[in-house]
Amino acid sequence: MSEIKENCGVFGIYSNGDVVKRIHLALHFLQHRGQQYCGIATSNKNKIIIQSHKGSVDPTFTREDFETLQGNFGIGHVSLNDRQPMTLHSKLGDFAICFNGNIANAGDLIPQFKKRGYSFWLDSQVELLAKIIAQEESFVEGIEAINKTIEGSYCILILTPDGIFAARDKFGFKPLILGNNGKDYAVASESRALQNLDMEIERDVKPGEIVFIDGTGFKTLKHLPEKRTAHCAFEWAYTASVDSVIDGVSVDKARNNMGAMLARKDKGKLEADIVAPVPNSGIGHAEGYHLESGIPLKSVFLLDRYGDRSYTQATQGERDSMAKKKLSVLREAVKGKRIVICDDSIVRGTQIREKVKELKKAGAKEVHVRIAVPPLMHPCRYGIATKDYDELIARKMSVEGICKYIEADSLRYNTLKDLFEAIGKGPNEMCLYCWDGKTVEEKQKKITEPVNRA
Ligand code: SF4
Repeated sequence: MSEIKENCGVFGIYSNGDVVKRIHLALHFLQHRGQQYCGIATSNKNKIIIQSHKGSVDPTFTREDFETLQGNFGIGHVSLNDRQPMTLHSKLGDFAICFNGNIANAGDLIPQFKKRGYSFWLDSQVELLAKIIAQEESFVEGIEAINKTIEGSYCILILTPDGIFAARDKFGFKPLILGNNGKDYAVASESRALQNLDMEIERDVKPGEIVFIDGTGFKTLKHLPEKRTAHCAFEWAYTASVDSVIDGVSVDKARNNMGAMLARKDKGKLEADIVAPVPNSGIGHAEGYHLESGIPLKSVFLLDRYGDRSYTQATQGERDSMAKKKLSVLREAVKGKRIVICDDSIVRGTQIREKVKELKKAGAKEVHVRIAVPPLMHPCRYGIATKDYDELIARKMSVEGICKYIEADSLRYNTLKDLFEAIGKGPNEMCLYCWDGKTVEEKQKKITEPVNRA
C-alpha cells in the first residue's frame, strides 16, 4: 500500500531469436517500475523502429507492433511519466534512447541548451540526455558529458545499428544488471527480468561504467567511478521486486532483515497474537518480523486484484478511495486479536490510518504499526515519485504524534543504522537523501575537499 512509486524500468537485448517477444516479456516483469507508458525500439538493417503506448505492457502491444518491430537488437521502457524510447537523427547516426532516473538539474540545463540554439519537442529529460550525447564526437564521449553535466540519477540504454550502450550513473542510484544464456545478451533494471527469460545473471553494471552489448557479449568501454556509491535504499525496502537481487543483495532477504530488526526492538516489550503485512509492500517485512519473533504470520487484508490503480487517479481523494477499495479486512482473522502490522513506509499517513481504523472496527483488540524505514523527511530527488515536502507527515509530527494520528496502539520505525545492517551496506554506499536531506553531490564534495589544517 506504499504511496511511493518508482518512475521507470529499462531493458535491452541482443538476440538471434525473437527480440521483440523477449523485450515484451521482460517489460512485463518490470511493470512494477512504471505502469503509465511503455515502449520498444529495435534496430534492423540500420533502421531504428519505435512503438510506444499509453498504458501497461500486456494489453497495449498489438500484433502489428510485433510485426513492425524487427531486428537483432532492441531496448524497452516502462514508465510512470513519459513515452520512451525516443529517437534522434544525429551526426553520430540514428539512435534510440531510454533511461531510468531523474535529472535534478534538467530545469537549468534545458533553457541553457535552448539559448544555444537547440530545440526541444517536449522539454523532457530523455530529450536532454539525447541532445547532450549528440553534441559529442562519440557515444562514449556523450555519456561522459552526461556524467559531468547532470546532477541526479540515470541508467541509460542507447540503441544504435551496431549494438547497445548501457551506462549507470557514477553513484549507482538505480539498479542495472547484465545477463546472458550463451547466445542472447541482455541488460535490465532488475534481475527478475533476466531470470524470467531463462538467463544467467552475469553481474551488475558498475556505478560509472559504460558497457557495449552486441552479438559477442559485453564489453566495458569506460569506467568512471567515484569514491562512494549512493544506491537507493528504497529499492530494497519497497520499489524492487522481491525476487530481484540488487548489487549483490537479495531484496527478499533485505526485507526479511528489516522486519527482523523491528521484531528485535519489540522483544520482551510487546505481546501480540499475529503479525500481518499491509499487502504487498509489507509482506517481506512481516515475514522477517514473524521469523524473528515467532509470532504467527496471518493475513488480515485481502488485496483486490482489480483495484491496484490507486496511483493513476487524478486527485488525492480519488487515490485514497481507490486505496480503500484495494484492501479489505478479513474480519474473522482479526476479531479479538492483538495485531502487529508491517509496511515499508509512511508518507502522508492517511492510508495507514484508514487501515488501522478498519482493523479496529472489525474487532481487533490492539493494532501495533511497524515501519521498515525511518520517518521520511524529504521527497526523493533521484527518480522516485514521492510527495512534496508539505505532504510528508513526519515533517509535521513526532513519532508519538503520528501514532496518535493513525490511531495505532504503538508505532515503531527502523533507524538508519538498522537499514545499513539489514541491507549490508554502509552510509557511504547508500543514498539517504529521504532522511538526511543531503545530496550525494554535497557528501561527495566533503570526501574530496582537502582538509583545511590552518
Ligand atoms: S532520495 Fe530516497 S527514494 Fe530517492 S534515491 Fe535516495 S533513498 Fe531512494
